[in-house]
Amino acid sequence: MRVAQLGSGTPEIAVVAGIHGDEPCGVRAIERLLADRPTVERPVKLVVVNEKALERRVRFVDEDLNRTFPGDPDATTHEGRLAHELVEELDGCLAFSMHSTQSHADPFAIVNAMNERTTELVPRLPVAAMVETGTFAEGRLFSEIQTLEVECGLQGTETAAQNADRLTRAFLTAVDALPGDTVTRELPVFRLTDVIRKQRADTYEVFVENFAEVEPGETFAAADGDEQVAAESFYPVLMSPNGYSDVFGYAAEKVDVLQSTTAAD
Ligand SMILES: [Zn+2]
Repeated sequence: MRVAQLGSGTPEIAVVAGIHGDEPCGVRAIERLLADRPTVERPVKLVVVNEKALERRVRFVDEDLNRTFPGDPDATTHEGRLAHELVEELDGCLAFSMHSTQSHADPFAIVNAMNERTTELVPRLPVAAMVETGTFAEGRLFSEIQTLEVECGLQGTETAAQNADRLTRAFLTAVDALPGDTVTRELPVFRLTDVIRKQRADTYEVFVENFAEVEPGETFAAADGDEQVAAESFYPVLMSPNGYSDVFGYAAEKVDVLQSTTAAD
């Protein structure tokens, strides 16, 4: 794990990259910050987490780090120990953690729950949606540390790296670490309601778009041609044919649209 800092003092905000080793976009954003060394108005911790997995360009070495929190210093797996180390490092910080996916090109935010902080911050980031995981957060970083996750785009793409850079700067501006203003956007909010499992097969297909409503009776995916039909309407989130080994993704409901507002004070 590589830890660096911008500014002096004890940071209450942290930018986190490389929870997954096959998602290099966030690492690029941190390296750019370290190269540019912008003057910050409050200290920021920078953490590149799973260096071993990043070197090997794999999601993880022993197990998925973002299903492993809180971890254990005596864990038998690399990620089990790393999870514990990261929780200690981020104690007292609001963490901004960058990921990328195989499912959706436009950046979106993932939070544990909607609260004052997330409804204030997330509409000020260049994201198309906010996803609330609710009970599906088990083992993820934000089960231990106040975390705002962002999906920066498609894994390994130049666009995802550029998005990571833009998102990081917007986040640091929104928390007053960097000077300037952010634009507040209208933002749809989705809450995960179900896991969409897939059976073992050779070929997987997904026929629907993430964040676009699937109607009852619509065929949304297939495993070796065996079609899965929606019993009721839902919004697909993190759906992709080959992103995960045992699930297509998640079903969600649309719970809110945060309106853009002008700060009154
Ligand atoms: Zn990830």
